[in-house]
This record gives sequence, structure tokens and C-alpha cells, in this order.
Amino acid sequence: MADTRIYNTLSRSLETVSPRSEAGRELSLYTCGPTVYAYAHIGNFRAYVFEDLLQRHLRDRGFGVRRVMNLTDVDDKTIRGAHASGIALADYTKPFKDAFFEDSKTLRLLPAEIYPEATDPAHIQRMIAMIVTLMERGHAYRAEDGSVYFRISSYPAYGKLAHVDLEGQRQGARVASDEYDKEAVADFALWKGWVPEDGAVGWESPWGKGRPGWHIECSAMATGLLGETIDIHCGGVDNIFPHHEAEIAQCECAGTGHAPFVRYWMHCAHLMVEGSKMAKSAGNFFTLRDLLMQGWTGREVRYALLAVHYRASLNFTIEGLGAARTALGRLDAWHDRLKEAAGEANNGTECVAQPDAATEEFFTALDDDLNISGALAVLFETLRESNRRMDQGTLTAPQARGLRDWLHRVNGILALEPEASHEAPPTEVAKLVEERAAARAAKDWKKSDEIRDQIAALGWIIKDTKDGQRVTKG
Ligand code: AMP
Ligand code: ZN
Repeated sequence: MADTRIYNTLSRSLETVSPRSEAGRELSLYTCGPTVYAYAHIGNFRAYVFEDLLQRHLRDRGFGVRRVMNLTDVDDKTIRGAHASGIALADYTKPFKDAFFEDSKTLRLLPAEIYPEATDPAHIQRMIAMIVTLMERGHAYRAEDGSVYFRISSYPAYGKLAHVDLEGQRQGARVASDEYDKEAVADFALWKGWVPEDGAVGWESPWGKGRPGWHIECSAMATGLLGETIDIHCGGVDNIFPHHEAEIAQCECAGTGHAPFVRYWMHCAHLMVEGSKMAKSAGNFFTLRDLLMQGWTGREVRYALLAVHYRASLNFTIEGLGAARTALGRLDAWHDRLKEAAGEANNGTECVAQPDAATEEFFTALDDDLNISGALAVLFETLRESNRRMDQGTLTAPQARGLRDWLHRVNGILALEPEASHEAPPTEVAKLVEERAAARAAKDWKKSDEIRDQIAALGWIIKDTKDGQRVTKG
């Protein structure tokens, strides 16, 4: 089997993924999850879809992937939101957590094994313990504002991930907010002393009441759940600095000092809208909900987010979703044709592994830093070639069965199979399907088309096959 290579942001080069131990192909994966102060937008989901592709491909290559994705449910933004709404923090974040899980399902994201929440008392204790260690070792200090800061001058490797030059940095300059520019590199907050705007949010600590900074949350949850060294850590490029840089500093200074915090760092490029990053702050964002309301499906959005290489910036357009719909339509038509050619009706079981060496190329393309364009090119070339053979009547049933098996494996990674086609339609739709069958039997094509539109308006798609009508969720 070919090696799987990925681009490591830390080394700025392609590296072969290898397990840490000879004993098994186990990998730990930590992915920074949503800050639950609003609905995640599809820029956020671009990051999660890329991570899903990574996880699925590694799984196909025989790796056992242990994945943790955190929920940032206390930080500057969630507190601000709860304060503005006049409700408790947990009540404010709950609907956004629920929405995140629902949207993840709609986009067919494999669930992580654990979704730790920053406000979990066990994790808060771990964050405090890490800060205590950092203070004991001289990497952190308490400032007059009651907050605790990481002393970046105590860690010469600070800046290694983002390639930030510490030269010219003002000794002791501090920054209290979680996010800031590389140019303003400064000591960052590990623990933020309580201020009146925090309201009821706060935990007791050796430095008085306060709350953790965003960066220490991830450091504590990642190492607490996955150990001192994590194999792969992902996020969007905006996470590189200061978030991931800070995570490295905290973990490597609070750890045994022998092990790196992360072996492979992977970051996806931004989802853009007319040249700017899609972001809540810029107000140029779409949530998945917005798109579903417009009649797009989760599957189409998944395709649009998946089809561009993760390190290339992706410009989001409605035309792009239209192209996704067209591509999926071709896949569905092909799938139906293959099914017919495979002769399900005569219970054939003989299967010719298909199509040939060329299709292994789908997986080897993904071995090359998740080269999705190469992989999709193989898929559509296979589709074209086998359609041609079906046109000519030269594709045998065992070959068609082999192609279906191959597509099944491909969908273990792409997860683009038709929308739960086995799902039974609701009574209202089922009734219309029956009426349409009667209209068709009476050769009333106008009525048949009208009913099809009514069914579509209810979110179901009807197709006429040689075995009768087939209705699937749209
Ligand atoms: P946040 O909820 O802001 O902490 O972001 C959650 C994840 O989404 C992080 O990994 C971000 O890097 C990622 N992200 C945010 N905006 C975008 C975007 N426009 N394109 C791609 N990833 C993004
Ligand atoms: Zn994080």
C-alpha cells in the first residue's frame, strides 16, 4: 500500500503519516471545534468537512483514528453574547451546541469519539493545574489586573508554527483578548480575572475568581483526553496564530519536556466570499440553515465544500452549489444505471473486482495530501468510461456489480450516496405518489407532472424507473 502523505504546517513540507508505535495503526486526532456563540457558518464547516475527509481516508487506509473535537462554550464571544441576551451562559450556548450536532449530521460528518466542553468542571480543573505548573516553572505570571499571562520570552521556540519573529518584541507586552495579530505578538492570557461583565461566569482558582483563556482550554482538553503527544491536530489557517502557537507553548512548557505536543499540524484554507474570508464578524456568511431554506441539500453543500483541495482557498458561490447538484445528478444516474446493469432482479452474485488498477488511483490520489481533485477526476472518468460501455452493451453484470462495490468504498470516504433513499416518505407524500401512479396509468401526463411538483415542494424527489416510481428525500 502506498504511503499517505500530508502537508505539515510545522515543517512546511509533505510528510508520510506513520503511527507512533509499531504495534498498531492508531492515530489520535484533535480538531478545534466551534465556538458556540452563534450558528456555525459554512466557512466553519469547510474546516470540519476537510477533517472528515481526512478521518475517512485514514480509516480506509487501515488507521484507527481516535478523534476529539472540543466545544468552546466559554470565551470572550460567548460571554458577550450571554450578557447581551441577559441569560445564563449555559442557556445561551445550548441551542448553538444542538444546532452544531444537527448540522454535522446533515453534512454527514463522522462523529468524534468525544466532544469535550470547556465548562466541564473536570476540564476547568485541568486547565488550572496546567497554569499552576506553568507558573511554578516560570513560564507564567500573575499581573496586576488579576489575570495570569504566559511569558513568551521564557519559551524561545514561540513562533515556530506561524514563523513569527520574536525579534523586536516588547518585553512584557500583554494582550488580554484571545485573538490578535502576529504583528502584536505579546504575552497572552491563560486565566482572566473576573470582571463585572462576566456576571455569573467564573470559577475559583489560586488567583481568585476568573475564567480560562481560549488557548489553555484546547491545550488542557487535548492532552487530558489524548495524552502528552497528539498525532494530528487540525483547524483553519486562522487558528495557526495565535491559537495553535499558544497551544504548543502551553503544552510543551507544562509537559515532561521530552515529547512534542503535536506530530502533524494540518490547516485548511479559508472559505471566501467575493475575495474576503467568510466570517461572522464580516457579516458575509451563510449558515447551513440559510442554504437548506433556499432548497439546497446537505449533500450538495458537502460536495461543494469537499470538491476543492483543502489548502486552496475556496470561493463560495451559488453557482458552485449548482455545479455540485449537477455532479451529484450524474452520480445518481450512473448509480441507477449500474444497478440495472448489475441485474439485481436475477440475484446475480458473481462480481468482477472493478474496474481495474485505474480505480486504485482514487485512493492513491488522496494519499497525496488529500488530492481531492485527482480523486474526483478518477471517479468521473470511471463513470464516463463505464457509461460508454453500457451504451455499447459491453459491460457485463459482474463488472457492473464490481463497479457498485467500488463506488461503495469510494462513498466510505466521500459520503455522497443518495439522500437516505430507504427513508419512507410521510403519509402526505405517499398519498401523492399513489395519485400520481393513477394519473400515469390513465396517461394524464399533465396531472402527473403537477403532482411531481407538489411532491418536490414537500422536499421529495420522484423518479420514474422501469420498476415504477421511486421517491427519495430531496
Ligand atoms: P470558531 O468557531 O471561530 O472557533 O471556528 C471554528 C473552526 O472553523 C476553526 O477551525 C476555524 O479556523 C474554522 N473557520 C472559521 N472561518 C473559516 C472560513 N471562512 N473558512 C474555513 N475555516 C474557517
Ligand atoms: Zn482549539
